[in-house]
Amino acid sequence: MSTTFVNEPLLELRRAPVREELLRALAGLDAELPLAVGVLAGPDAAVGPRETFDSTDPGMPSRVVAVAQTATDADVDAAVAAARAAFPGWSARTAAQRAEVLRRAAALLRTDRRRLAALAVRECAKPWREADADVAEAIDFLEYYAAAAQELERGPHLVKVPGERNELRYVARGVTAVVAPWNFPLAIPLGMVAAALAVGSTVVLKPAEQAPACAHAVVDALLRAGVPAGAVNLVPGFDGPARRLVRHPDVHTIAFTGSEAVGLDILQAAAVPAPGQRHLKRVVAEMGGKNCIIVDGDADLDEVVPAVVRSAFSFGGQKCSAASRVLVHERLAEALVQRLAGAVDALVVGQAEDFATDVPALIDEDSQRRLLEALAQAREEGTVIAQAGPVPRDGWFVAPTVVGGLRDGSTLVARELFGPLLTLEAVADVDEACDLVDASSSALTGGLFSRNPRTVDHVVQRSPVGNLYVNRDITGAMVGRHPFGGNRLSGTGTKAGGPDYLLQFVEPRVVVENTMRHGLVV
Ligand code: NAD
Repeated sequence: MSTTFVNEPLLELRRAPVREELLRALAGLDAELPLAVGVLAGPDAAVGPRETFDSTDPGMPSRVVAVAQTATDADVDAAVAAARAAFPGWSARTAAQRAEVLRRAAALLRTDRRRLAALAVRECAKPWREADADVAEAIDFLEYYAAAAQELERGPHLVKVPGERNELRYVARGVTAVVAPWNFPLAIPLGMVAAALAVGSTVVLKPAEQAPACAHAVVDALLRAGVPAGAVNLVPGFDGPARRLVRHPDVHTIAFTGSEAVGLDILQAAAVPAPGQRHLKRVVAEMGGKNCIIVDGDADLDEVVPAVVRSAFSFGGQKCSAASRVLVHERLAEALVQRLAGAVDALVVGQAEDFATDVPALIDEDSQRRLLEALAQAREEGTVIAQAGPVPRDGWFVAPTVVGGLRDGSTLVARELFGPLLTLEAVADVDEACDLVDASSSALTGGLFSRNPRTVDHVVQRSPVGNLYVNRDITGAMVGRHPFGGNRLSGTGTKAGGPDYLLQFVEPRVVVENTMRHGLVV
């Protein structure tokens, strides 16, 4: 990209004044709870009472963070109509004009960053470090896609011959439906929305039911920055509004991030044109992972142990990129088990607002139940190698656990669990580990620890994953530095935060003009 892009720096949490500012922002937010989140469906949408649902603090479920309206079918239709009506005006602006608005939104997020981080702490139990990174990533997406859209507008170079003018332009496809998850409650919805807006699309956002207030905050910043009413809309709710939205005939592009099951359902629904629909929908689907870290026999455990622990347990393993399976060379297996046990034992499970917390509550009761069931299965089929504790009683906490000795074919090593459960298997060599990775239908992230450059090259050749990390943590992709997205059933292969991402939201149009004039028009 010709425009220089720089990642937003993270706050320095080790400094006491920074921590005090964050706690003041949290106290200010607490005084305003519960927040009200309404449907935003264009300037002419009906206002008035609707059914509501609560988003609550996962660490203290009695605390209501937001009361959100549930978008009705009529709201979804109104939001799509508003987005359609706003499309000609927004798409007619130049990329530079749209970029200016997105950069203003980034500046607003920067000003509000402490309060936004506090909101992610409360609504999703994101520990401060992760919550701050979420805000920084949201800023990055706005600025990166703003610049990338300007680059895209310049168009690619085509072969020139005398007497012919050839041009390839990328044009916004139309209304984009964005369906978002809760685990990056600011960055992921805003990233998908920003990409669509940057190229001239207008948007209807269906946020995760667990995090409507975070989504409302980013939409609010976009509107304050100057995105016209109608160009971005918000339809909160559970799956109902999302199902209607993705099936709507006036939606051209669907940007989805979430689970494999829902992604497959959306891909299927989008494949069937609705009556009156005159275009094919394009689906950008970023889905789940079953991410493995391979530890070769020459790896340095001083590096491996903290990286594995952070990759598996930060934010309670609730990142699509999180490590859930370690495949370790049998020569190192026993030493790694011992070292991991010590490291896991030292993890602090607690409230997200405590700066000492490593592992917060899981997002909701369903997640807690799913992980407790998986733990019971793990105890039956294998051996618990390490478990942190104690865990607070209120809130959706689950103790971070490492399990070994699982029987062949256990579903625990195949299924995404999305929580603080890590399995460990010994392998004879790196090729056996690669075979196990290759047998998986997921291919999102992966990791390798090895000191041998030839082994590194070999695993790079064999690895099917979208993002492979060598000798480091496997989470924490940075916009512009580590374009992110999975292959196989983990996604449609696009890379968020990378140079190709915007191509999903545009259609190419080529104009070929004969410039050899024959006579004059009079
Ligand atoms: P989810 O699939 O349950 O929900 C995501 C969104 O889809 C929510 O807004 C939900 O309301 C909506 N939805 C539910 N049913 C729907 C349907 N039938 N049709 C349309 N929309 C529907 O996922 P989640 O629990 O919010 O997030 C966790 C999942 O997201 C994990 O699997 C994780 O790996 C994945 N994830 C992937 C990435 C990535 O970049 N690959 C990033 C973050 C999260």
